[in-house]
Amino acid sequence: MNEYVIAPAPQSAIPVVGGGLFPVRRVFCVGRNYYEPDAIIDAGLREPPFFFMKSADTILTHDRAMSYPCATESLHYEMEMVIAIGEESYELADGAGSSAVWGYTAGLDMTRRDLQDTARQKGRPWELGKTFEHAAPVGALLPAAQFRPAESTAITMHVNGELRQSSSLGRMIWNASELVVNLSRYVRLYPGDILFTGTPKGVGAVQRGDSLQGAIDGVGIVSTTIV
Ligand code: MN
Repeated sequence: MNEYVIAPAPQSAIPVVGGGLFPVRRVFCVGRNYYEPDAIIDAGLREPPFFFMKSADTILTHDRAMSYPCATESLHYEMEMVIAIGEESYELADGAGSSAVWGYTAGLDMTRRDLQDTARQKGRPWELGKTFEHAAPVGALLPAAQFRPAESTAITMHVNGELRQSSSLGRMIWNASELVVNLSRYVRLYPGDILFTGTPKGVGAVQRGDSLQGAIDGVGIVSTTIV
């Protein structure tokens, strides 16, 4: 008998609207992916998207409180739409991204900005600025049949009831489907993988006691309080 010699880690999972749990395999994120408010949108001038990862156990669900992480004095929120992958996908053809999507949710790509900035300046990996306990609060997952991302779909972020980010999915440089296609050309995607799709202008620092709420029209909300 080959039994585990230590207890296996608990399965990270996101509750689904209407019931059930979506097991999270890996967490991918895209870097800068929204046009500045005054930018001219020209698909022909786009730089390719770039990706990084958080570990799956950074997922925080059910509106639970987020612990202020160690090793930072600059914890930032980044409000993002999150895609959940439902089909194995590898080197997808242009236009084939949507069929791989199981659902959508709202998520916060929490970031230790000081660690990220220092690493970036030194040309080092900025992983530890992005992956730490509770670094990925998410809302309930909405099956793809119930939502189609539109250019007019609003994405907003409130801190203590004050509007901090306000944009629409039409400001994304690479849309949801294009991101899935692009990522599938670097790694084989599996059911359970999720992808944070980037944040609009207006990120900023939060402190203990702050209440965070992000929303995507037609998808839902993500909320947490920093403790
Ligand atoms: Mn981000």
